[in-house]
Amino acid sequence: MSGTTHGKGANSANTGTSDGGTEAARNIAGPTPILELRGVTRLHGEGAREVRALDDVSLSVYPGEFIAVMGPSGSGKSTLLNLAGGLDSPDAGAVLVEGSPLAGQTTKALAELRRRSVGYVFQDFNLLPGLTAAENVAFPLELDGWARRAAFTAAQAALEECGIAELAGRRPEDMSGGQAQRVAIARALVGPRTLLLADEPTGALDSNTGSAILELLRDRADRGAAVVLVTHESRFAAWADHTVYLRDGKISGVTGPSDPATLLTTGSNATGTGA
Ligand code: ADP
Ligand code: MG
Repeated sequence: MSGTTHGKGANSANTGTSDGGTEAARNIAGPTPILELRGVTRLHGEGAREVRALDDVSLSVYPGEFIAVMGPSGSGKSTLLNLAGGLDSPDAGAVLVEGSPLAGQTTKALAELRRRSVGYVFQDFNLLPGLTAAENVAFPLELDGWARRAAFTAAQAALEECGIAELAGRRPEDMSGGQAQRVAIARALVGPRTLLLADEPTGALDSNTGSAILELLRDRADRGAAVVLVTHESRFAAWADHTVYLRDGKISGVTGPSDPATLLTTGSNATGTGA
């Protein structure tokens, strides 16, 4: 399987560190990006210890688009996902989800957006101990006001999709790392999520399971979601339409068509990472 096989081809993607490409994208009539970072900078620490975890990064992810993010440890990958998911806020620039800037939204509105629209697979799973797999997956839906029964039916379907229906009644403390990871993925996929953010979701999975999960993410993108996957493995990045490379908080390269004008006229395919 390669990114070419799975690439959507005709998406108006735009990535880059300067504003020029973003402006170009805006001038082309098309869908609103589900996720947009505009000149985003995130600083950590102070004085001589200051780290630019992200440094003037601009990136748009459109409906149906699957972006892989790669880069060495410390290059800003998790920072980018945290900002995209509204878990952190930038020191400069803006993050927009479904066209709305996250800055200025109330805590309540942000929490609602995270529950309803954003599916997040954390690097360390973040499952609630003491709750079964089905309860963990149903939880965000219940918080969002779903009736218990409907939430559990949706949770069961998501567990099935991830190939772990039989784990529904099991608690995280009685699962292997790979099982817990798949429950975390089911929780991110459940409900009508439009933005899926995954931080190395395949880390604890054997390669067959890893590919199955990638296929699920690809399928969600093909059905209109925006997917951002942080991964170390180029064979997983090959499922994406584009791979964005981060280095020292900056975008150091993008594979696949990055010029929206070229993309729309040629309808060319993503190149993945050569896998
Ligand atoms: P990655 O996920 O690519 O490994 P991160 O986004 O976690 O990178 O981190 C980017 C940089 O920001 C690193 O230098 C890291 O040490 C620093 N950093 C991230 N979070 C914090 C924090 N909460 N406090 C201080 N430094 C941080
Ligand atoms: Mg990280």
